[in-house]
Amino acid sequence: MKIAEVRTHLLEHKLDVAFESASMRFDRRAHILVEIVCDDGTTGWGECLGPARPNAAVVQAYANWLIGENPLETEKIWARLYNALRDQGQRGLAVTALSGIDIALWDIKGKHFGVPVSILLGGRFRESIKAYATGSFKRDGVDRVEDNATDVARYWKEGFHATKIKIGFGVEEDLRVVRAARDAVGSEMRIMVDANHGYDVVEAVRFGQAAAELNLDWFEEPVVPEQLAAYREVRARQPIPVAGGETWHSRWGMREPVETRCVDILQPDLAGVGGFTEAKRVADLAALHGIRVVPHVWGTAVHIAAALQFMAAMVPSPVRVNPIEPILEFDRTDNPFRQAIVNTPIEHVNGVVTIPNGPGLGIEINRDALAEFKMKDA
Ligand SMILES: [Mg+2]
Repeated sequence: MKIAEVRTHLLEHKLDVAFESASMRFDRRAHILVEIVCDDGTTGWGECLGPARPNAAVVQAYANWLIGENPLETEKIWARLYNALRDQGQRGLAVTALSGIDIALWDIKGKHFGVPVSILLGGRFRESIKAYATGSFKRDGVDRVEDNATDVARYWKEGFHATKIKIGFGVEEDLRVVRAARDAVGSEMRIMVDANHGYDVVEAVRFGQAAAELNLDWFEEPVVPEQLAAYREVRARQPIPVAGGETWHSRWGMREPVETRCVDILQPDLAGVGGFTEAKRVADLAALHGIRVVPHVWGTAVHIAAALQFMAAMVPSPVRVNPIEPILEFDRTDNPFRQAIVNTPIEHVNGVVTIPNGPGLGIEINRDALAEFKMKDA
């Protein structure tokens, strides 16, 4: 079996109501899928985290080194592609594009052997996983305090055991938002906050100290990802566990944050950190240092399916009768690509998601939906 073709699919959906995190405004959802076609007709799907068109350009640049290769040789291909752009690559788009390719190759490998990727990764420790609801962005034209409290109460009613609220817009307003959310659901629901690196150290420490009484599970991306000393300071000077890692790419990007304990919870993204091949190494690195892993997920059904396969195979940490289980980040914002692009949508029941057990990623792509959401001029 040889790789015959590498295709990219650019998808776009304009939102009815725009929303914001502390670092980005969304008036549309745009994502890129990678499709790798083999000479025997086997097709694999992957996804890249981040801007669709630049990712597509890098994927197409990598295609030169992929055509004619054996798609089952995932480690060999990963090393070859990484090396091809290493001198000007190492992080960012060079690795997010490589991630989409690697996910597609593992999908092919699973289909070839007739097993889910999780089996190839070493086995399924779990068949389902608790999801946490990611929503509670800042929406245009509404009161954030009331809006987020309503969101959180709805997630709780839908059965989600946990939710994550977007902060980083200003400490006092953020505290009002999180307090109202806690009041809306009581003490049982797990609540996390994500500043999307919208604070500096002074603000992050002030928020963390003031929010200590609100029983928050983690404080995600308090400061910009390049400033690792700032991360360590936030972790040392306020009591909420710190999470981060969605913008740190490859094992080399993860090494310093892990070794110098910038975070309590590491959040590698399958579609950003380097695909399954690299995420496994990163999870092992984190486990070696006693740091929890909860993968970041923000994308289409392909991304969610990849995360689920990976999480099925994550070794419980620590291994004991009632281990600490990973939880799935489940985006609840307006995004038709989560469901529409696959024949069997991945959904939750009472906040729990079943991990697909079909070959590869365990999903079938709906090509009509890809055509429907095709980005203009793509
Ligand atoms: Mg985040």
